[in-house]
Amino acid sequence: MSSHWVIHKFGGTSVADADGYRQVAAILRDGKDEKKAIVVSAMDRVTDALIELVDVAKMRDDAYLCCADALKARHVDAIETLLPSQRRQPLIDTLESDFKDIKDLLRGVYLSRTYSDRTIELISGHGELWSAQFLNAHLNAMGIASSWLDARTLLIVEPGDTVSVDWECTKSQTAKWLETLRTDWVVVTGFVASTPEGIPTTLKRNGSDFSASIFGKLLDARVITIWTDVDGVLSADPKLVPEAVVLEDVSYQEATELAYFGAQVIHPSTMAPAIEKEIPIWIRNTFNPSSRGTKIDKKASCGNSVKGFATIDDMALINVEGTGMVGVPGVANRLFGALRDVGVSVVMISQASSEHSICFAIPEVQAALARTIVEREFFAELHHNQIQMVGVTDNCSILAAVGDNMVDHPGVAGKFFSALGKAQVNIRAIAQGSSERNISAVIDRADSRKALRAVHAAFYLSNQTISIGVIGPGLIGGAFLDQLKTQMETLKQEFKIDLRVRGILNSKAMVLSGKGRSLENWRDSVKGSCLPSDLEKFVAHVHSDHFPHTAIVDCTASAELAANYPCWLERGIHIITANKKANTGTMEFYRTLRAISRARNRHYLYETTVGAGLPIISTLRDLVQTGDQVFEIEGVLSGTLSYIFNTFDGTKPFSEIVQEARGKGYTEPDPREDLSGVDVARKLVILAREMGLDLDLKDIRVESLVPESLREGSVEEFLKRLSEHDSAMTDFLNRTRDSGEVIRYAGMVDPKAGCSVQLKSYPRSHVFAGTSGSDNIVAFKTQRYHPQALIVQGPGAGPDVTAGGVFADLLRLASYLGGPNLN
Ligand code: ADP
Ligand code: ASP
Ligand code: MG
Repeated sequence: MSSHWVIHKFGGTSVADADGYRQVAAILRDGKDEKKAIVVSAMDRVTDALIELVDVAKMRDDAYLCCADALKARHVDAIETLLPSQRRQPLIDTLESDFKDIKDLLRGVYLSRTYSDRTIELISGHGELWSAQFLNAHLNAMGIASSWLDARTLLIVEPGDTVSVDWECTKSQTAKWLETLRTDWVVVTGFVASTPEGIPTTLKRNGSDFSASIFGKLLDARVITIWTDVDGVLSADPKLVPEAVVLEDVSYQEATELAYFGAQVIHPSTMAPAIEKEIPIWIRNTFNPSSRGTKIDKKASCGNSVKGFATIDDMALINVEGTGMVGVPGVANRLFGALRDVGVSVVMISQASSEHSICFAIPEVQAALARTIVEREFFAELHHNQIQMVGVTDNCSILAAVGDNMVDHPGVAGKFFSALGKAQVNIRAIAQGSSERNISAVIDRADSRKALRAVHAAFYLSNQTISIGVIGPGLIGGAFLDQLKTQMETLKQEFKIDLRVRGILNSKAMVLSGKGRSLENWRDSVKGSCLPSDLEKFVAHVHSDHFPHTAIVDCTASAELAANYPCWLERGIHIITANKKANTGTMEFYRTLRAISRARNRHYLYETTVGAGLPIISTLRDLVQTGDQVFEIEGVLSGTLSYIFNTFDGTKPFSEIVQEARGKGYTEPDPREDLSGVDVARKLVILAREMGLDLDLKDIRVESLVPESLREGSVEEFLKRLSEHDSAMTDFLNRTRDSGEVIRYAGMVDPKAGCSVQLKSYPRSHVFAGTSGSDNIVAFKTQRYHPQALIVQGPGAGPDVTAGGVFADLLRLASYLGGPNLN
């Protein structure tokens, strides 16, 4: 047996029930042969329940009696499940007697409608007393020689806002106890202590971690292990950031800062005694003991510049502002002195260098008190208008980034704040510790989760995450989801782009998912969904505030849907669309869309609205933005019509080729929609507007290929009677052939001569004559590309290429949002 002590601390989550105690005992039994001090918390949430009993009694509510009985029953149940019958009675007797005392005390509270701190301290400590006895009895039942210690008999503290240990007294009591100790294993109550007068008290909420550290110092322990319900200290609370990662090593200072800013996994006071003795602390998971855990010790380990993030909610921000504070010495001293005197705990301070204002964050429950105290302290200054206001903002949170190595990495603060900016989180105050070990910001409570995830993502502790809603999972939308399915994991692992499809909506139904769905069986899920399609609910779900970014992907052709874009951009949603309707609506709508996108810094991407996956819009944009002057854009922009004219060589009449194209699914169900030329005209509007031209769809001259007499009537009738016009088409073909030319249905954007869509003939040597299949081809004639035009050519229709274009827009968005370089 080693002569050294080791400390194991098990939190309430580890001993929630009889199974928990069994698991704890198994961990201890499998551990090394060492002297063990085993510090335990009360069973999960028992301390809360005990405190609540006092509050209920104070309200003169008889329910305190049943609540007390229920709490007793929970403990009796644990004993009966855990222990063999012959070992139960002494513990049941203890419970009976303790609950009798507690009820007596509560009766006093009930009658007097008041209680003192002492009452709370005494009652709330019982959970640990019971828990320690349960574990010890269970260990004994397993044949292990252990004893238990009521820490109140030797741990002496000065109660107050911050508990301070009377080390001298405690050490001498400990020495006496050790002399009488006959076992190598001792189960010690966490949380409880005594005042120098011998009155029961506690180390304050979550104080069992502190108990562990105190006993570590008292027993000169080799190591302290804090067992909890997570695999270690994580880069953020895993309940808020599912992508948080376990940190292998953190320094005492990093752990202290994280704990101070709300990382509940360890209590901030815990570290002091361990630091003094340089005892390493391990955080490990009771329910996953094979995982290594996190080591906390003195050396600052290398690694990421920022180790972790934490938030404290329910804060208020107080702002004291006044010209009379400038250059006056001692203002801060008076302010914080006055607050300290009434026990207001100031969590963060930020002072403008001009000293014109001081703002500080405090727990919201103390906000009214703090305001009164500040107004009282600065009564004269307020009266003489040297201080103009004491403002209180409720519903705030503090978000902190922590890491020893931040000091050596320039740009950390920039990254932190830009991530918050991108996620549209409003920052109310900022503070950076002088050690540069932390940066903290006060933000709105409602933004807390989103902000935490956004900064976490920005530092690559988790991936760049985009919450995605796909509308219209038809041909294009479906192909897009299939492509996403095959690439999602690679993008996540290799490029840290984390794309979460959190909703799919069609005209009838929708599917929603919290974390983002696997796309394995998305078709079946949509088909089998009984959630009726509801656009507003869908958008609200996809745009939930805990995801740093949201994108809606519109794969429909619906004008009604496109009408929502301005409102979505306004709400902070990015839009990727294959739908031409928004960009070809009124000029006023188009301008509004652009203005909101710019003002709100939201991206609106629509590469696939012209030429499917071909880089037509991005090419044009690059030309315009780099200052080139575009003289003219000419192009074959309909994949359907391109196919028809590439095939129309005289061997078959025109009407038969249209029928064939329709049969192959190349045309709309009503081929007149393609032949009318409106679709090409829409594409011209999009290109023209991209060049800065001010025009509407009606300004495009369109030569329709649908004969006047066939514009009305059914599709069948149209198809039947189209042959009546074959001879005109064949004549045109023969004429162009005779002059060595080919027919193409082309569009032209010419800022001077206007825009038109028409059937044209081109010499066989012209690039447009070289198209095949459903090729689109666009020629940009510009100042730089002149006389040789810049040509973009390739298949310009079909679900796969269009979906690929939509996907590329999505990746472009990820890179605009600060994702990694995809090269
Ligand atoms: P115990 O009962 O063991 O004392 P707590 O509930 O007090 O357990 O603390 C563990 C919890 O702390 C975890 O379940 C986790 O949700 C939360 N937590 C908050 N921040 C962090 C963090 N940075 N790393 C790990 N856990 C954290
Ligand atoms: N049981 C106490 C509490 O809930 C102490 C602890 O668990 O650390 O605050
Ligand atoms: Mg805890």
